[in-house]
Amino acid sequence: MENIIVIGGGFAGLNLIKGLDPGKYRIMLVDRNNFHCFPPLFYQVASSGLEPSNISFPFRREFKNSKNVSYHMGHVKNIDLENKSLTTSYETLKFDKLVIAAGSTNNYFGMEGMAENVFGIKTIGEATYTRDEILDRLERGALCQDPERRRELLSFLVVGGGPAGVEIAGALGEMKRDILPREYPELNPEDVNITLVEGAPALLGAMSRDSQEKALKYLKDLMVDVRLNTQLSGYHDKVATFKDGREEYWETLIWTAGVCGEPMPGLPKETVGRGGRIIVDRYNRVKGYEDFLFALGDIALMETEKYPHGHPQMAQPAIQQAKLLAKQLNEGKFTTEFEYHDKGSMATVGKNRAVADLTSLSFGGRLAWLTWMFIHLISILGMRNKINVLLNWIWNYCTYSTSLRLLFRPTKYPLRRHWGD
Ligand SMILES: Cc1cc2nc3c(=O)[nH]c(=O)nc-3n(C[C@H](O)[C@H](O)[C@H](O)COP(=O)(O)OP(=O)(O)OC[C@H]3O[C@@H](n4cnc5c(N)ncnc54)[C@H](O)[C@@H]3O)c2cc1C
Repeated sequence: MENIIVIGGGFAGLNLIKGLDPGKYRIMLVDRNNFHCFPPLFYQVASSGLEPSNISFPFRREFKNSKNVSYHMGHVKNIDLENKSLTTSYETLKFDKLVIAAGSTNNYFGMEGMAENVFGIKTIGEATYTRDEILDRLERGALCQDPERRRELLSFLVVGGGPAGVEIAGALGEMKRDILPREYPELNPEDVNITLVEGAPALLGAMSRDSQEKALKYLKDLMVDVRLNTQLSGYHDKVATFKDGREEYWETLIWTAGVCGEPMPGLPKETVGRGGRIIVDRYNRVKGYEDFLFALGDIALMETEKYPHGHPQMAQPAIQQAKLLAKQLNEGKFTTEFEYHDKGSMATVGKNRAVADLTSLSFGGRLAWLTWMFIHLISILGMRNKINVLLNWIWNYCTYSTSLRLLFRPTKYPLRRHWGD
């Protein structure tokens, strides 16, 4: 029996573990979170449409009947390839084989101070923090008597016109158009400024022209201002600077514009390539360490003729790579090169407003929205989660009203300390 450590229980890690032969491998899953979660719906957490627990599933429950799998909570601190050991925040573990499936993290392209000053939706923690920020600004805006300051408090800038940016901007637009008049009578929706900036000449760069144009129209319908060919160059003291030299005040900046591989301390420099991703061959083996080191999913850089800069950082390449690697590890031989089967892409901008490019078919509107909901629903882990999400969606669709716009402030101290007295 070989010891195999899998770093990361996301789409790649989880599918790999499920496919590995329990008679052949003793598996240790290392993840800093004790749950698997579903990033495509993070934007709904950030916009108070779903609770974090609706799209998260505990590893211990997932593997309760798998005697060969153990879960180890911890953040990876060091990988020692020579001694085949891994050190996390809490322990050092030995392995025979190591699979790195730690995903990606925000990339601010060298802009200073961004991590401290901007909000994100890259993890469930970030999405929850962003949700609290949005609710806080709406409440403070409702109290503010100075019209100019109120407009400042209610200014939200989304940076990045990929699916995540389009989805969070659309959700904010729905809040502005449909929820504010119902729940915040003190606020005039005109005081809320939601703007999305994208450096390229179109939104959703990887999608068809038709989908790009539809998404732009949907955002406009939802009162979102979209600026294309606009690149952010910095953000300090709530002032955003753009490449053309313009400077503007934005109270809340939500960053969705770039990712890079999650850093893995201890890996030799030559194993890391473009975008901080780990260089692998067509079998997901890390170059130079083919017999025991593997990388999968967002963090893996597999350069092929069709994908010279690596596969898209999306769920499907991660899942497909994981399934193939599990099969070849079980067989003990690597005979089949990875070939990505692109099932298409989708993005939703709001109720009845989505775009879908599925193989040769491109469509939008309600049909795309229903397709998007169906595909996402069946992909969420756990029957209870699926039912909760579906009930939430039906409720929100019929009433525009959710009980989730709650501003919890977790603290171990008496609450007044939280307010600074
Ligand atoms: C907001 C958002 C929306 C998205 N929407 C879509 C979509 O609609 N369709 C689509 O196909 N893709 C979408 N994606 C991309 C998709 O989520 C990723 O491509 C996919 O999750 C990659 O899978 P993975 O297993 O490589 O990494 P992940 O799913 O990110 O899993 C990585 C795991 O590693 C753990 N981890 C990370 N670093 C460490 C560390 N240092 N120590 C210990 N554990 C660690 C994490 O906790 C996590 O559990 C979206 C991503 C985001 C952020």
